[in-house]
Amino acid sequence: MKDVVIIGGGFGGLSAARRLAGMGGEIRVTLLDRKETFDFLPLLPDIVGGRIPPAAASAGLCGLAQRHGFAFQHDTVEGIDLGRRAIVGRRSAYPFDALLVAAGSEPNYFGDASLQKSAYSFNSCGDSERLAAALSAAHVETCVIVGGGYTGIEMATHVRRRFARAGRALRIIIVEAAPSILGVMPDWIRRYARDNLGRLEITVMENCRLAGVAEGRVFLGGGEAFDNALVIWCAGVQAPAFARALPFEKGPQDRILVEGSLEIRNRPGLFAIGDAAAFMRRGRPLRMSVQFARTQGACAAGNIARYLRGGRLRGYRPWDPGFVLPMANGRSCGAVGGLRLRGLLPTAMHYVMSLMLSPGLDQKARLVRALMHGI
Ligand SMILES: Cc1cc2nc3c(=O)[nH]c(=O)nc-3n(C[C@H](O)[C@H](O)[C@H](O)COP(=O)(O)OP(=O)(O)OC[C@H]3O[C@@H](n4cnc5c(N)ncnc54)[C@H](O)[C@@H]3O)c2cc1C
Repeated sequence: MKDVVIIGGGFGGLSAARRLAGMGGEIRVTLLDRKETFDFLPLLPDIVGGRIPPAAASAGLCGLAQRHGFAFQHDTVEGIDLGRRAIVGRRSAYPFDALLVAAGSEPNYFGDASLQKSAYSFNSCGDSERLAAALSAAHVETCVIVGGGYTGIEMATHVRRRFARAGRALRIIIVEAAPSILGVMPDWIRRYARDNLGRLEITVMENCRLAGVAEGRVFLGGGEAFDNALVIWCAGVQAPAFARALPFEKGPQDRILVEGSLEIRNRPGLFAIGDAAAFMRRGRPLRMSVQFARTQGACAAGNIARYLRGGRLRGYRPWDPGFVLPMANGRSCGAVGGLRLRGLLPTAMHYVMSLMLSPGLDQKARLVRALMHGI
C-alpha cells in the first residue's frame, strides 16, 4: 500500500483527494486540514454582506472523506521532514510515499506586525463571521479596504449592502497604492467597476497608501485620518508560512515553483497546486482561481498515481474560461469565453457556478435556500 498525503482540503486538495480515492487499488489517501470544513472562498463576501449564512458556504471535511473514500485528519501542518518523507503536524506525523501541497495562501502584511493584529482579513467562513460582527459594532463609522483588486472591490460592495440593509450610514474607502484599481484587468472593466463603486458611494483613493492604524484611528499616506475606523486587508497574499520555510524554489508571492507536471522542482514525488504553487506561463504564475486549483488537483492526482507506478508524468494544460467580478448590487462584470458581460448575467453566473462547484448536496441545499429566501 502506498501513502499519499494531501495538505489542504480546499478546491485543489479536495479535487485531488476525490480522484485519487476513486482510483482504489494500492493507494491510501490522507487529507490534512487545519479546519474541519471546506470553505467556499468566493462566497465569503456574501457572508459579510448578509446574503448567505456561513453554513451555505461550507461543508464538513469528515463527511466528504467518508463519502469519497479517503481519510481526513484535522491537523495543522508545521513543516515537512524531507529526509524521512513525513509531514510534521501539530498533533502527529504523517509519512508519505507521495505528497501534494494544496494549502492555498494567506494574507501578506509585508512584515507589519501591528497591522496584522488590527486589520481584518478573510480566508475562511469564520473570518467572514468575525468581520461581519465587527462591522456591526455601533461605533464603527468608516471602513477602509486596503487593496483595489477584485476581492477588495467585491468586499466593498458587500459591506455597503450590509449597512444599507441595516439603515446605517458608513463611509467606505478603497485605498489602492497603484495608479489604478484592478491594475491587471482590461480598461472597460476598470471603468465599469469605478462607475458602480461611485453609485454605491464607495470612495476610491488611488496612488494612496495606508500609513498606520492605532486605537481605531486609521491614517492614510496623504495625511487623512479617520476615527472609529475598521481596516479590511485585501492588499496581498503569499504562500502559507510552513511552505515559505521549506527549501523549495519559489516564485512570486513565495509560491512553490512547479514543473509542467505540477511536480515541485527537483523533488520527485512531491507535487504542489493551486494558490500555493507557481505554475509559470509566459513568465507569470497562473492567477489564483478556483478553475486552476480544481483542474490542477485532477491533473496532480493522475501524475501521483503515475509516479507511484513508475510511469511517465503528463503535463498540465491550463484552460482559462475567463472570470467574473461579482458585485453585491447585481452590477457584476466579467469576460467569459471572450464575451464582455455586465449586470445581472455575470451575477447569476457567480451563484450558478458556486452551486455547481459546492462539494456536498447538503451545502448545495443550504445555498439554494439562502439565495431564495435571504437570511
Ligand atoms: C474572497 C475571495 C473571493 C474569491 N473569488 C473568486 C472567484 O470569484 N473566482 C475564482 O476563480 N477564484 C476566487 N477566489 C480565489 C479562489 O478561492 C482560490 O484561488 C482557490 O480557493 C484556491 O484553491 P486552493 O485549493 O489552492 O486553496 P484553498 O481553497 O484556499 O484551500 C487551502 C486549504 O489549505 C488549508 N491549509 C492552509 N494551511 C494549512 C496548514 N498549515 N495545515 C493544514 N491545512 C492548511 C486551509 O485551511 C484550506 O482549507 C477568491 C478568493 C477569495 C479569498
